[in-house]
Amino acid sequence: MDRFFREVRFLPGVGSGRSEQLARLNIFNIFDLLWNVPRTYLNRNETHNIGQIEAGGKYNIKGTVSATKLNRGYRGTAVFKAVIQDDSAAITAVWFNQNYLDKTIKPGQSIFVSGRVKEAGLANNYELIAEEYEILDSVDSSLKILPVYYLTEGLNQKRMRSLMLYVLTNYLPWYKEIFTFEQKRKYQLCDIGYAFYNIHFPAGRPEYLQAKKRLAVEELVLFLSKLRQGQTEEKGRTGIAHKEKFDYLQRVYGQLPFSLTPAQEKVLRLIFDDMEKPKPMNRMLQGDVGAGKTVIAALCLAKSAASGFQGVLMAPTEVLAHQHYQALTKFYRNTDLSVALLTGSTAGAVRKSVINETLAGNVHILLGTHALLQGDIEFRNLGLVVIDEQHRFGVKQRSILGAKGQPDFLMMTATPIPRTLALTVYGDLDVAVIDELPPGRRPIKTELIPPEKRDAVYAFIYDKIKADADTQVFVVCPLIEESEKQDWLAAVALYDILKQKYPDVQVDLLHGRLKAAEKKAIMEKFQAGQTRILVSTTVIEVGVDVPSAVIMVVEQAERFGLSQLHQLRGRVGRGKEASYCFLISDPPTDEAWQRMRAMEKTNDGFILAQEDLKIRGPGEFWGVKQHGLNQMKVASLIRHGKWIELSRKILEEENINYAALEDYVKHKFPDRTEAKN
Ligand code: ADP
Ligand code: MG
Repeated sequence: MDRFFREVRFLPGVGSGRSEQLARLNIFNIFDLLWNVPRTYLNRNETHNIGQIEAGGKYNIKGTVSATKLNRGYRGTAVFKAVIQDDSAAITAVWFNQNYLDKTIKPGQSIFVSGRVKEAGLANNYELIAEEYEILDSVDSSLKILPVYYLTEGLNQKRMRSLMLYVLTNYLPWYKEIFTFEQKRKYQLCDIGYAFYNIHFPAGRPEYLQAKKRLAVEELVLFLSKLRQGQTEEKGRTGIAHKEKFDYLQRVYGQLPFSLTPAQEKVLRLIFDDMEKPKPMNRMLQGDVGAGKTVIAALCLAKSAASGFQGVLMAPTEVLAHQHYQALTKFYRNTDLSVALLTGSTAGAVRKSVINETLAGNVHILLGTHALLQGDIEFRNLGLVVIDEQHRFGVKQRSILGAKGQPDFLMMTATPIPRTLALTVYGDLDVAVIDELPPGRRPIKTELIPPEKRDAVYAFIYDKIKADADTQVFVVCPLIEESEKQDWLAAVALYDILKQKYPDVQVDLLHGRLKAAEKKAIMEKFQAGQTRILVSTTVIEVGVDVPSAVIMVVEQAERFGLSQLHQLRGRVGRGKEASYCFLISDPPTDEAWQRMRAMEKTNDGFILAQEDLKIRGPGEFWGVKQHGLNQMKVASLIRHGKWIELSRKILEEENINYAALEDYVKHKFPDRTEAKN
């Protein structure tokens, strides 16, 4: 078994240089190499006649190089062109910024190229913008379908392929099956060796599909079993039944500053039902930005306290934790509920006293940030854990809090999570949705503004501020300081500009490097309405609630993901006034354009989340990295729902080779072991 985890530098032809290149691709040992699946394939069986090519399409062509030319353009850009001829016609293939091609692609060679065709220069003159190519003389001609791997400087496809072939031939037989012969037959899974071979060098499409299924299931079984290691501890939990003995909840409920919407009432009943049952609650509360999740959390925490338990509310940022503290203190006024706040900047005697009072049971509700996870924070009897903006946390944080008692869990988020992903990451999970906004909300008018029209936006803002004494504005920038390489318009610079330009307007600056006390002071000033324009980094991204803020400006909007933009926009549109969101951007890619357009089109976070999934996949979408899901090479948690179900079933019902499984889990998802410390 150990031979798989031998470092790549022990392979023939792989010295320290080559192994450094591989390390850049996160390949350290032979196991990693096997799992380094191709990013795409070149199918030399499927080629088009050059004579039939039309502009706009994607084509594979095969022909002879009849001429080549390397042009050096402005600022060192290189354009390499090769005329390629087959029996029907000739076309010019074009590569950008790959000067070395001059030495690789030569007249007389037989070549395969795939890429997109564009009209060039004169009418009816086409160019093929090359994406992949293969010089046919240099490869084993028995291979019709060639793998294309991710590469790094100094490493070419040919080297990578021969390395893969070597590993497949010499090491694959030692890869341990985790399934028995019968299991493979029952679930129609091919052998693991066959799968690895055919994912790298598929004999044909059916073989490739077989391989893909087997490796996706392999990967999912490893991943799910990793998650279960954490969840078995949870399964053993007995849970508690919340039964009210005190009147805290009635008192809080009786003095709410507004009446709950029907949607809020509905989710509250669902959650209360869960809390009353002795079974541990595992519930996700979804509600769009501004739907009013905080008050639900406040009521649930009051119910827990009324039942004689303590509660926790954890938020991802200090600004948000402070805001929750203020909100809860208001909801709980005159109720004798005691609320304490603990963040990274709570220190010394204050911290000590919060910890002591919590342990003694004198704190009913403890609010805070990640700081709540520290080992010296213990409870007398923890009954409820509420995690706000759950998508910002991982499962790890959750189980740390879970271990501090037998609490019920309520996870809140504005970002809907696909069901397969939720089940995979959180095990069995109930979802409650707040599907309506509090009354009086106005849709936010969103507009994409090209950078050259920025001044007009600020002039508009200035006029509004002068016309209306309540108007407040957020301006969000992606960076704190101007960095040398990226000439972004940074928060500090913009703050200076605005202050100079509008000396009669109170402008403030908020960013992550300020001390907690400074941040708090600045937010309080803004909340009190003294600050008219708050220039900020994304520290205000989640949860911040200031109803008189009606304009949101996002600088360099293309730098933000869709769910992030939606969160930012959610900071406005909470009051009675018409609200605006200006996205200042010159979107550099198609994808960025789509994001900006989606923002202009809808205010609905659920629709945007769907769009986001379509545009980007689950990548950064749901804190996926924290769960190690980015280690997935074959399986997709969005598209492979059926295989996820199959893998869950196999893990539940079958007796598999656990010795091999555990070894592979350790290597494929190594962050688990780190998480344990
Ligand atoms: P989110 O769901 O994004 O966390 P919040 O809990 O911050 O939203 O609520 C947004 C704003 O709406 C807050 O100012 C809150 O007081 C207010 N709000 C919540 N529920 C209602 C309601 N039923 N009626 C009126 N305003 C409400
Ligand atoms: Mg919130």
